[in-house]
Amino acid sequence: MAFTVGISRYERPYESLRIAVERAGGLPKISPGSRVFIKPNIVTWVPGGVFPKWGVITTSRIVEDVVRILKEGGFEHIKIGEGIVYGGLLRDGITKEAFQTLGYYHLKRRYGIETIDLFEGPFKRVQIADGISLNFSVEALESDLIVDIPVLKTHAQTVVSLGIKNLKGLIDIPSRKRCHSKNGKGDLHFYVGRLFIGLPPIWTVIDGIFSNERGPGFDGTARRTNLIIVSHDVFSADKVGSTILGYPPSDVPHLVHASKVLGRPIDLSDVQVVGEDLNNLISFHKYSFDYNRDNSLPAVMDRMGIRGLSYWKYDETLCTYCSFLNGAILTAIAKAWAGTPWDEVEVLTGKVMKPSGTKKHTILLGKCMSRLHRNNSTISHPIFVKGCPPKPDEVVKAFREVGIHLDGALLEHPEGYVSRFLKKYEGREDFSEEFFRID
Ligand code: SF4
Repeated sequence: MAFTVGISRYERPYESLRIAVERAGGLPKISPGSRVFIKPNIVTWVPGGVFPKWGVITTSRIVEDVVRILKEGGFEHIKIGEGIVYGGLLRDGITKEAFQTLGYYHLKRRYGIETIDLFEGPFKRVQIADGISLNFSVEALESDLIVDIPVLKTHAQTVVSLGIKNLKGLIDIPSRKRCHSKNGKGDLHFYVGRLFIGLPPIWTVIDGIFSNERGPGFDGTARRTNLIIVSHDVFSADKVGSTILGYPPSDVPHLVHASKVLGRPIDLSDVQVVGEDLNNLISFHKYSFDYNRDNSLPAVMDRMGIRGLSYWKYDETLCTYCSFLNGAILTAIAKAWAGTPWDEVEVLTGKVMKPSGTKKHTILLGKCMSRLHRNNSTISHPIFVKGCPPKPDEVVKAFREVGIHLDGALLEHPEGYVSRFLKKYEGREDFSEEFFRID
């Protein structure tokens, strides 16, 4: 049996999506009275909305076109929902602001769709493997169809972030943190590769108007890619999306897990691509951030000449919440560097990192590191920064203890530092905010 994936070039609003939908076999064949739940990808939101959204969050262009096509297909009961964090934290009003800015309330007025902040719950436990459960949004679980609208992008930990990975936004925060475990039960790839288990049918529309190299966030580099990929089978959509980003599905660990769960080939032998020659669409996107040779510093900081500090490269156990903070801390460290080597400091993050045993000071960032190494006698001077994720003022205090004076404002108010990433798109007419508005 072959699963169909329809691809179109994005040229015009609505029409281009309509073509991809037809190439993928048309709308889902369920009754118009069915409950439809749309899941866009709004990985984060920064207050004020001033940050690069291209290749990071789903365009409102595609969301509106999907809603229009569903309405024309007679679907009456449509909800759109997302659970959004800011700077790695829940924040009152952030989902409302995102929905407002992205024009979702216009969709409400124009098409009568309902908007849902998923973090308001409720959630229900779903078993995804023997003895392993995650808590999924009841809104999504009780729908008859999930319309999954991820962005065509890479991910620093999971290689790609497409339809299956976008489903992680349907689970609550404790479950999201659990996905970054690394123990006898599984790892991030194991969890992500099972996120579709127990869910209603999924219709996937990959928004590739923009793609993202070194995603999933605004510190990656977006490209104008102009593709729309549609399939009634999320695994097939992801295998095709991954191939387009330059990764055979067998190079993506969570897709390998998914293939085992589904008992299907990891290659494209059970997929029929309609509309474009896949070979002409492949464009390699790097997924991992460059570090120096021993992974002790981001390459750019190593080139700055920073010495006396080993801020070891993140691993897959670092949750989104600590990850966002990590980016802000590294920016603050680069700003604090004055040319004098620091005093043999190392920073450990995530859930499994081990100390080098050779440094004078070890900063243990987050609850996980603090717990894991609370009695580690190989650490000469441990500095615990508890919290899940840690509080910015405690991070500043910890670094001050080893003579590194961070600008606390960068950590407290990341919106300032985030907006700097807009610079690389200045003057680029093909990168317009219009894609994230609905008038
Ligand atoms: S401390 Fe950080 S890595 Fe550990 S669970 Fe909390 S957010 Fe995740």
